[in-house]
Amino acid sequence: MDDDSLNIAIVGGGISGLVLAIALIRRGIKVQVYEQAHAFGEIGAGVAFGPNSVRAMQACSPDIHTAFHKVATRNQWPDKRNVWFDFVDGYDKDAPVGKEKLLFTLTTEDGANAVHRAHFLDELVKLVPDGVAHFKKHLDTLKLPDGDGKVKLLFHDGTEAEADAVIGCDGIKSRTRAWMLGGDDKPGAAPVYTYKYAYRGLIPMQRAVDELGEDNAKNAKMHLGQDGHILTFPVNKGETMNVVAFHATEDDWPDARHLTRSTEKKHVYEDFGDFGPTVQKIIDLLEPNLDCWAIFDTGDHPMEAYNQGRVCCLGDAAHATSPHHGAGAGICIEDAAVMSELLAEPSVAQAGARGLEAVFRAFSECRRERTQWLVRSSRRTGELYEWRAEGVGRDVGKIFAECRERDESIWGSRIGDLVAEAKGGLAAILEA
Ligand code: FAD
Repeated sequence: MDDDSLNIAIVGGGISGLVLAIALIRRGIKVQVYEQAHAFGEIGAGVAFGPNSVRAMQACSPDIHTAFHKVATRNQWPDKRNVWFDFVDGYDKDAPVGKEKLLFTLTTEDGANAVHRAHFLDELVKLVPDGVAHFKKHLDTLKLPDGDGKVKLLFHDGTEAEADAVIGCDGIKSRTRAWMLGGDDKPGAAPVYTYKYAYRGLIPMQRAVDELGEDNAKNAKMHLGQDGHILTFPVNKGETMNVVAFHATEDDWPDARHLTRSTEKKHVYEDFGDFGPTVQKIIDLLEPNLDCWAIFDTGDHPMEAYNQGRVCCLGDAAHATSPHHGAGAGICIEDAAVMSELLAEPSVAQAGARGLEAVFRAFSECRRERTQWLVRSSRRTGELYEWRAEGVGRDVGKIFAECRERDESIWGSRIGDLVAEAKGGLAAILEA
């Protein structure tokens, strides 16, 4: 490395890549972001963040925290501001629309704190200075140097780039991960189907209120049932109700290269035919033609390490999870906070290539347990919501107790403690 200033390449400009870039720039570290798409972009769907993620945003950069709050939406009723979800009996066939039996409620300090993905990303993009992002750059592979030289990134268009270190934030189908594991055919290189899929929709709030009643439309609800569950929460400052309807299946997903496929509403009615009137009404509100999302994760073959030399995976690239905890993007933000704090340690730039390798090792060692636990716990949570969990089934008391314990261990973590642990690990590696 030529001088003391680091030059980091980030592959992928989703939530992980952008948040990491902003956090590093704030700490005076030079970054380049290589994104395969022609522009930054997110899908039109909601994403909820628990309190651990919101604290991690602040640690990455107060600007990210401010950007989030500009677009974040909490439950609309003041007395439900702290509700994560009301869990209701989606199978309650006797209850009129909007009056399903309340099974239990989970609360956090901010309740369901959700954004429209595209709006949040737009706010993040505003924090990325000109000249940092490079579009239409699909990473094919990487080359590590023999000595202290630069790491090479080779793109599909035949161009190359160099950096002191590369962080793969390239999502669930990460090329960085496949490279690290030794090729596309290696276990763990490709994500696996969890045998659940989801339909998603965004409903104008007034329609939702008219059809479902104000409490159901304006506050977060989780409708539990056999082999399926539907969640709704407000986004867009209460202008829109986000819907995600999950269902279990025994069939394989037809084509792992495409994780979404177009479908028709009649299939949603078929899947949720045994659910009660409230769920039927939610389905009525969905568009006639909609997308079905396969739920894949990296749970079958967790990575043994997120680092190799001066290359590291972060976010979904390292630990893509099913979404049942509503914590996948939040844990990516924790990753970014930890990584940026490690890279900003003065001893790292001074130690050159060895310092960067040490950072990535420390990052991997301190993040693996929590992030991979999340992947496993999310699978279990999906089963709890769908009355399929072994030893639990439809026992509401047990579902409540297990969900609460799992969620609280996600929400309760303090980013300051996670960073301190990582820094301790880094110091030990550098001293060894
Ligand atoms: P991605 O968002 O996948 O971004 C990867 C980026 O890298 C993309 O821009 C892509 O174009 C780019 N890229 C990929 N390959 C290459 C390449 N070879 N070269 C260059 N660029 C490349 N999480 C929550 O916290 N709360 C929720 O409520 C929630 N709900 C969810 C609901 C569903 C149905 C799903 C599927 C997920 C949900 N998640 C949720 C999880 C969350 O969406 C992900 O954890 C998060 O978006 C991952 O961000 P990322 O930036 O790591 O990856």
